[in-house]
Amino acid sequence: MARRPIPPDAFARALLGWYDRHRRHLPWRAERGRRSDPYRVWLSEIMLQQTTVVTVGPYFLRFLERWPSIDRLAAASLDEVLQEWQGLGYYARARNLHRCARVVTEEHGGRFPDDEAGLRALPGIGLYTSAAIAAIAFDRPATVVDGNVERVVARLYALETPLPAAKPELRRLAADLTPDKRPGDFAQAMMDLGALICVPSRPNCAICPVISFCAVGGKKKAGDYPRRAPRKTRPLRQGVVFWVERADGAVLLRRRAEAGLLGGLMEFPSTPWREEAWTTDEALAEAPLKADWQSVAGLVSHGFTHFELELGVLRTKVGRNKLDGVWVRPDELGRHALPTLMRRVAAHMGHQVRPERAAERRLREIS
Ligand code: SF4
Repeated sequence: MARRPIPPDAFARALLGWYDRHRRHLPWRAERGRRSDPYRVWLSEIMLQQTTVVTVGPYFLRFLERWPSIDRLAAASLDEVLQEWQGLGYYARARNLHRCARVVTEEHGGRFPDDEAGLRALPGIGLYTSAAIAAIAFDRPATVVDGNVERVVARLYALETPLPAAKPELRRLAADLTPDKRPGDFAQAMMDLGALICVPSRPNCAICPVISFCAVGGKKKAGDYPRRAPRKTRPLRQGVVFWVERADGAVLLRRRAEAGLLGGLMEFPSTPWREEAWTTDEALAEAPLKADWQSVAGLVSHGFTHFELELGVLRTKVGRNKLDGVWVRPDELGRHALPTLMRRVAAHMGHQVRPERAAERRLREIS
């Protein structure tokens, strides 16, 4: 079936008129008529990768309070950044954030490149993020396509191709709609439309500013777009954690290797994670020491993007020894960069760990 063309100028006019009245007020957004600060745009876009606006808000404000400019962030240690990042997940983003701050400060005089190609050459900035920064911070006519925009465009054109195969086509269609004037506002308007009105399951077409351009607007089937290929089930991996406790109650932590999943974060020692279940003998061969290990009832479960993980726990008590790692009292675990998974392990062992933010610590120290 021939696709109904959408006149880009008329579409942009309708959308931007709505945006000027109903835009979201987000901590990283410039007020109307003001230029956006590239540092804030970059910081928010990195945090928003795979994370919601609601979750990101407090993290963004804390980062900005602690590191108000890119050179201040570049001067921080990776550990400080990882610790402040705790709870946002996908820690490779935090490591790239830190590297990127250093590259911009040391190689670009503290100023972000103002086009997509220059931005994409920086650590942690891919196709989407470079387009978002170029459009929002520098008003370049870049095509910014996130999940919200994909949904809106799929509905505007009633696109039958399922995601993810539809991505290149959605991108082309979104590019055709992007205007030369106010491209940064247009990008944010599309995102806001998707977040506020053209929401995933029940779009509110009755108040949509672009319903006259939409192939499914006001119809019951609008919520059925974008079409999606059936989800694959995630494989299950398994592992065993070693909870090593000293006579004074301190437990053993070690740092994960820099490269790979949860790289550079702290963890309780564990076996590798694999799809095959571990026998006790196999697990003990991976233990940090020979000891009298007791099995702890229950499992700790956690979902990663590409697999589900289940961890059993073995515990032991030790006297003085020379094990590699850091000994930490359970009530001080929050001071370390522990990923959510390891906080779940601690909870399983009866210790709730609340990430202790450096800002809160500083406040306590001075009060
Ligand atoms: Fe989305 Fe409905 Fe607007 Fe179409 S009319 S863009 S389906 S909210």
